[in-house]
Amino acid sequence: MIKAVTGTKDILPDEIPAWKVVEKTIERIFRNFNYKEIRTPVFEETSLFARGIGEETDIVGKEMYSFTDRSENNITLKPEMTASVVRAFIEHSLGKQQSLNKLYYVSPMFRQERPQAGRLRQFHQFGAEALGSTSVYLDVEMIQMAYEILKELGLKDLNVKINSLGTPESRNLYKEKLRKFLSDKKDKLSEDSRKRFEKNILRIFDSKDEKDKKIMKDAPLLLDNLDNESKDSFEIVKETLKLSEIPFKVDPYLVRGLDYYTKTTFEIVSGKVGSQNALCGGGRYDLLVEQLEGEPTPGVGFAAGIERILLACENEKTLNLPENKIDLFIACLNDELAGKVFEIALNLRRKNISVECDYLNRSLKAQMREANRLKAKYVLFVGGDEYKNGLANLKNMETSEQRLVSLNKIDSILLEVFNV
Ligand code: AMP
Repeated sequence: MIKAVTGTKDILPDEIPAWKVVEKTIERIFRNFNYKEIRTPVFEETSLFARGIGEETDIVGKEMYSFTDRSENNITLKPEMTASVVRAFIEHSLGKQQSLNKLYYVSPMFRQERPQAGRLRQFHQFGAEALGSTSVYLDVEMIQMAYEILKELGLKDLNVKINSLGTPESRNLYKEKLRKFLSDKKDKLSEDSRKRFEKNILRIFDSKDEKDKKIMKDAPLLLDNLDNESKDSFEIVKETLKLSEIPFKVDPYLVRGLDYYTKTTFEIVSGKVGSQNALCGGGRYDLLVEQLEGEPTPGVGFAAGIERILLACENEKTLNLPENKIDLFIACLNDELAGKVFEIALNLRRKNISVECDYLNRSLKAQMREANRLKAKYVLFVGGDEYKNGLANLKNMETSEQRLVSLNKIDSILLEVFNV
């Protein structure tokens, strides 16, 4: 039997209502903040991600689904959206049409990570990117939007963590400091961290290795070595978050995996989803557009994982899902009237009434079982003695009340009943 590829997941009809709630909430909140949706292709040229995300990151180094297509193009299934949005922004000169572009997306992403709870190889992210302004209020806006969406979904056990990575200049100075600090301790680091020492030294802070953690406890912190500009904007971030009544913690160890961040970074984690607890993350990336050969344009954004959010919602039992009811089931009492039933169904469906009928030649009893399973609000019985007079019985399934109605007028009767 062929099964779904490891790390991918079918989203079955029973799970869809929860997805819809999340998607509707996303749309509503982004609309409130005036973000416009953008959709980009599922695959891109590999070099976009290599250049945009950074060769030394886990995503590019280990996790991308890359292949050569039949025309020898190097293609990658998108592992994240920022590089794609920036590519589209540059390609279509969006910055020339308006000076600030506020964009959002919902899209599948692909990373060849080790699958576990909350970690898939095809998963879905939503997120936003604001391109064209250095305003620190946009940094806060990202956190506000992410937080509002999670709160709207009923999540309570949330921790907002923020940090500043400074400007590239102050970060480089700091990296030198860190390198000096670690130079005589390097041999005691884990193998992974020794590699990071050479390639991406900040990521040593991400290490889960206990020995590494002990060493890094005494390491100088980037947050204590910020330039004045980054320090000032970090103060505004904190102040504004307080005013927005969003609880947060400063986490000087939050370096995040991607190379392109500058200044503000943040993450929101849930206490309810196990080890893969980051629901979303983001930050400012003032140099990325330039790095991808666009006009220098500051940017800030975040991305959140839908599967992980749904897991948190399930564990906190937050979602009140609407019951999936159908308006009308048409029970057919006479096989010969199947075509007539089908015609009535179409007419009502065209009036926005949801209708189901029988396609399996079932007995009346079995048809009624089906109507109950579908939670039909009404059942129309077509084909009894009354049919000769153009009438049919309409039963209200909630009250069990039954009345004779004229089939000629069935649409106006039902439109009134359902208030369509
Ligand atoms: P990142 O782009 O790595 O900052 O991830 C942003 C968010 O996407 C994370 O906080 C997760 O919620 C989600 N995410 C990232 N990788 C995965 C994955 N492999 N499976 C499921 N969700 C993921």
